[in-house]
Amino acid sequence: MPDQTGSTPVTERRIVRERGARKQAEQLLEQKSRELYLTNRELQEMALNLENLVDERTDELKVARDEAMAASHAKSAFLANISHEIRTPMSSIIGMAELVLHSPMAIEQRQHVQLILDSARSLLTIINDILDISKLESGKFQLEVEEFDLFELLDNVVEILGIQASDKRLEIGAIPANGLPARVIGDPVRLRQILLNLLGNAVKFTSHGEVRLRVEVDDYSGDRVRLFFEVEDTGPGISPEHQDSLFDKFSQVEGGHTRRHHGTGLGLAISKNLVECMEGEINFQSQPSQGSCFWFKVMLKIPEVTLSADHSPARGKSVALLTTNPFLSESVPALLSSLGAEVSLLADLESLHAVRERERAFDLLLVDHLTLCEIDPDLNLRQAIEQHGSINTVLLNWINSTVCDKLGSWATRINRPLTRRKLMDILTPVVSPGSHAYVSKGGEGETRVRRILLAEDVPALQLVMKAILERQGYTVDIANDGNEAIEAVRSQDYGMILMDIQMPEVDGISAAREIRMLPDPSKASIPIIALTANAMKGDQDTYLVAGMNDYLSKPVDNRKLDEALMRWFVDTPSK
Ligand code: ADP
Repeated sequence: MPDQTGSTPVTERRIVRERGARKQAEQLLEQKSRELYLTNRELQEMALNLENLVDERTDELKVARDEAMAASHAKSAFLANISHEIRTPMSSIIGMAELVLHSPMAIEQRQHVQLILDSARSLLTIINDILDISKLESGKFQLEVEEFDLFELLDNVVEILGIQASDKRLEIGAIPANGLPARVIGDPVRLRQILLNLLGNAVKFTSHGEVRLRVEVDDYSGDRVRLFFEVEDTGPGISPEHQDSLFDKFSQVEGGHTRRHHGTGLGLAISKNLVECMEGEINFQSQPSQGSCFWFKVMLKIPEVTLSADHSPARGKSVALLTTNPFLSESVPALLSSLGAEVSLLADLESLHAVRERERAFDLLLVDHLTLCEIDPDLNLRQAIEQHGSINTVLLNWINSTVCDKLGSWATRINRPLTRRKLMDILTPVVSPGSHAYVSKGGEGETRVRRILLAEDVPALQLVMKAILERQGYTVDIANDGNEAIEAVRSQDYGMILMDIQMPEVDGISAAREIRMLPDPSKASIPIIALTANAMKGDQDTYLVAGMNDYLSKPVDNRKLDEALMRWFVDTPSK
């Protein structure tokens, strides 16, 4: 029954029950909120801790990174220093061995000294490789920027590797595509180094066949040109499992052919670094037993003003090439057309006669002596040409080849490897009749006695340099340190000073500065060439700022010394 408020006992019970339930729910909510609050606080604390931990770790990592960078810099500084320390005695060993080889000796002794020289040179190559890779990795490396002759560089690398290649009867040569710029701006020394590495490997690993160096323009953009170089060989190739790591440092294909060859395993790693410095890329294709083909692209600049020198000196001349050799058929025409000449390829005597009959006169006939011996064992060609009498004939020969001895003195010969320079030399009498390509330069030299001051503190190097310079007809005075050098210049006239950088008491840089301030202008302006075992880029600028004119790295390369003497003695009055 309803009470006075109108509610029944059933409704009341339900209300009480609902209140109880709500209270319970509220308590549960409160408890959960408290738990949530506590968890949240815990999470905040953890986040804070984590942040602190991350900060701490970041600081630790920064310290570790700074330490690693300092260690890496210390490593390169150490390497630069140690390389100086190693190069100085190496210079003495190489210089002395070269000197001794110039003196009369028994055959056996000569072989021993040659071995010392070869070992010292290969040790120096290893040291240079290690120094290079450390310079590249330490970020201290900078490319030179200078204008150079691209064709001369190609000739140079082919000549250098040509000796080794000819010993193995390997064909080697550059194949320049049409339209290559004759002069470019970049770092010729480093480009040469990449090419020597790739060509050196190709010659080293190939036992028969050919090594081709193809060069072409990949792309022109504004005043820049991207060049494409390709070194293809007919060597053993590289198996797929070794291909991935080939550009890694110290990577050499184990076992197999590699063990028979020397090498540091640094050449390709250095080349890759250098190519990347030149905004390029490097890669290769290779199949076992099918040879390898390494290629790279580099960006160079084209000089604004093209030099007036004629880069197609044989323009309009026509040359016939008699050969069945596929390598010569590709490389010789490419080299000749880079000189501007027109080339007709002849594979047999009939085609030669046919061309002659059509009265097509050639300015020059190049004959591959092996093809000739094959297709014309009775030497009918020789007779035919001798009867005709007029055509200039040149035999393309191998060094020390006896195959064509029966040809006697018929025709001029040029030895492989064929380069643009050699072809130019044989074309010279054709291009400008009256001149002689083979004029001996001996005998006409003037004997001006010229005096050089050599400032160098290491006695062994004094001896070597003095002997080399004296052999070339210079008078040499020695100064043992910078002070002695300044004194010598005050009291004597010199045509040139070769100044070591690191000397006791007064070093080369300070001595050069003092000499530049001498009151007598003729003394203050003597050419000073720095001699340095420390070949780091940047040092060179210091020498030039100190008033030096040029620098030579130790061990002094005879050719570079000659070039420096030529450069700085020109126009210097004889003393
Ligand atoms: P190195 O020649 O001093 O050993 P590189 O870095 O120049 O070092 O070459 C690494 C390795 O790659 C070589 O040892 C050789 O196994 C392999 N290689 C390079 N070029 C050739 C090639 N043209 N033919 C066959 N193998 C090659």
